[in-house]
Amino acid sequence: MSVTGGCQCGAVRYRVEGELANPHLCHCRMCQKAAGNYFMPLGGAEREKIAVTRGEPGWFHSSDIVRRGFCAKCGTPMFFDPVDSDRLLVTLGSLDDPSRYKPVSEDSVESRVTFIAEWTGTRQKVTEDDFPENELAVIRSSNRQHPDHDTDTWPEAKR
Ligand SMILES: [Zn+2]
Ligand SMILES: [Zn+2]
Repeated sequence: MSVTGGCQCGAVRYRVEGELANPHLCHCRMCQKAAGNYFMPLGGAEREKIAVTRGEPGWFHSSDIVRRGFCAKCGTPMFFDPVDSDRLLVTLGSLDDPSRYKPVSEDSVESRVTFIAEWTGTRQKVTEDDFPENELAVIRSSNRQHPDHDTDTWPEAKR
């Protein structure tokens, strides 16, 4: 079995043979910045089990020992690569099924934003209730996000 994922625009796709291990959230400041988010969800596998199946990621060495892979066209962060390790990590939000792995731990909690603990009390919105129907129609008809499965060609020919 395998697990697939890729960036938002579909220029970069990857496949993991087998399952990812140690799904976790990293709250370190470098992951916050690299994700543009409050934390980075990551899971890892042996390096040779992870193959890029379309395109080439861009890479940024956030330090001498770690480089981060992303789509150079749309910016989606996908890889966390400790260069001297035999393991490679992928971002769980870039998986085709982001609900496949429930994080089992949180790392670098010393830099976790403090209000995360209060999230259970936030207002909950459903997209369909929150946007006017005409805006939703525009998003649906102009959606350039790659579907959550591998495709033979992308972008697809206009129907
Ligand atoms: Zn992309
Ligand atoms: Zn981190």
